Amino acid sequence: MPIASVNPATGEVLETFEPLDDAGLDRRLALAEAAFHDYRTTTFVSRAALMHRAADLLDQDQEAVARTMTEEMGKPLAAARAEAAKCAKAMRWYADNAEALLADEHPAAADVADAGAARAYVRYRPLGAVLAVMPWNFPFWQVIRFAAPALMAGNVGLLKHASNVPRTAVAIEELFRRAGFPEGCFQTLLIGSGAVEGVIRDRRVAAVTLTGSEPAGRAVAAAAADEVKKAVLELGGSDPYVVMPSADLAGAVRIAVRARAQNNGQSCIAAKRFIVHTDVYGAFTAAFTEAMQSLKVGDPMDEDTDVGPLASRQGRDDLEELVEDARTHGARVECGGGRPMGWDTGYFYEPTVLTGITPAMRIHQEETFGPVATVYRVAGLDEAVALANDTPFGLSSNVWTRDEAEQERFVRDIQAGGVFFNGMTASHPALPFGGVKRSGFGRELSGHGIREFCNVTTVWIG
Ligand code: NAP
Repeated sequence: MPIASVNPATGEVLETFEPLDDAGLDRRLALAEAAFHDYRTTTFVSRAALMHRAADLLDQDQEAVARTMTEEMGKPLAAARAEAAKCAKAMRWYADNAEALLADEHPAAADVADAGAARAYVRYRPLGAVLAVMPWNFPFWQVIRFAAPALMAGNVGLLKHASNVPRTAVAIEELFRRAGFPEGCFQTLLIGSGAVEGVIRDRRVAAVTLTGSEPAGRAVAAAAADEVKKAVLELGGSDPYVVMPSADLAGAVRIAVRARAQNNGQSCIAAKRFIVHTDVYGAFTAAFTEAMQSLKVGDPMDEDTDVGPLASRQGRDDLEELVEDARTHGARVECGGGRPMGWDTGYFYEPTVLTGITPAMRIHQEETFGPVATVYRVAGLDEAVALANDTPFGLSSNVWTRDEAEQERFVRDIQAGGVFFNGMTASHPALPFGGVKRSGFGRELSGHGIREFCNVTTVWIG
């Protein structure tokens, strides 16, 4: 894929970028190595001051940054502003908390003595240059949730962003540079995915994190494993959204629409499979279908647009194929199921609700990356849990029930990195984020996230 900004609402090519050549890439890797040499010794206080400055600049630039995101990947402008604000919040959170999260750990005195030491403790030290391979769907947030903890820990960052969001990629490098981070602490590498393996194998790169699809994760993790380098993978998801009879049904419907249609349906943690108890199935499905149908599809720059275009023609075509496969195998299209009238130029797809899903349909097992919901009817709790787990993915999950015993059952049995009751999955700097099964491994955010790229060093003093 060429590195290019293409407006998905119109198909217009906004700008193309030349990828870095070998010499240019080598210069940037050398700069990262040199930057780490000094940056690793800086204090938390000085790093926090730089991170606060970056957050302040991002707040000042919010409108321009939001417009760049919307132009490149089509999310509604209001959502893009919210994304920028969320990034600034996460930067401040890590600026304020990193030192405590990475404070030396002291085992119990009896254990220190038992280990034969006069003193022993654990120190979290930075690893070096960390490569971040990132997707386009939350083009600022995915990067910042890696960069804020990585930089606060004393690592330096190298960003290989998705090839369709180069303007955002350049803007993020600029942001850290303008905030005063030393040269080379955070660099964007304008390279295609074919060049990623070479960067992972480069001795100047210590570790890699990837947020994206399963095939990309497999390729990146394989190269990292071969080089015995640490990798974190945040991959796809097909999160269940379970509605039990005790749920606040109006709330469950309202949030279901948001959880499915957020970011034009292109979120790893979007609710994708709606699993509804038979007692409330009819009422939920009717109200949910009506609400999905009433979403306003249109130009993402318009303030009242709910759902903009998908980010690429390929993404739209893939989604269309999944729906057609389901329809061919007998799924019922409750609403949507095609391209909206009057939006022929961009990569639009109607908010869609499907019922009558069977295991013979691809959509039963594959991720729908767009505003398409599948709704299943279940007879009880056991069936709900089994169906929720009947997926290769295990990112997060959502369950609507006021019954504490049912909640406890999901906490015990759900195969996912998170379970959100009576609400929808959302990330927060203080809560770990990540999945199990084919959704990947490792965690971002919180103390777990910042420690992923640290050398957990045992200090033993006799
Ligand atoms: P993608 O095609 O996997 O791309 C993600 C990144 O990986 C891009 O920078 C891409 O570069 C690069 N890449 C692709 N193939 C590669 C390879 N073989 N080797 C090295 N790098 C490679 O995914 P996407 O379509 O942008 O994003 C959608 C997917 O990401 C969905 O499955 C979604 O669920 C997942 N996602 C997960 C999370 C999470 O936190 N778990 C968050 C957001 C999205 P190019 O653009 O140059 O190809």
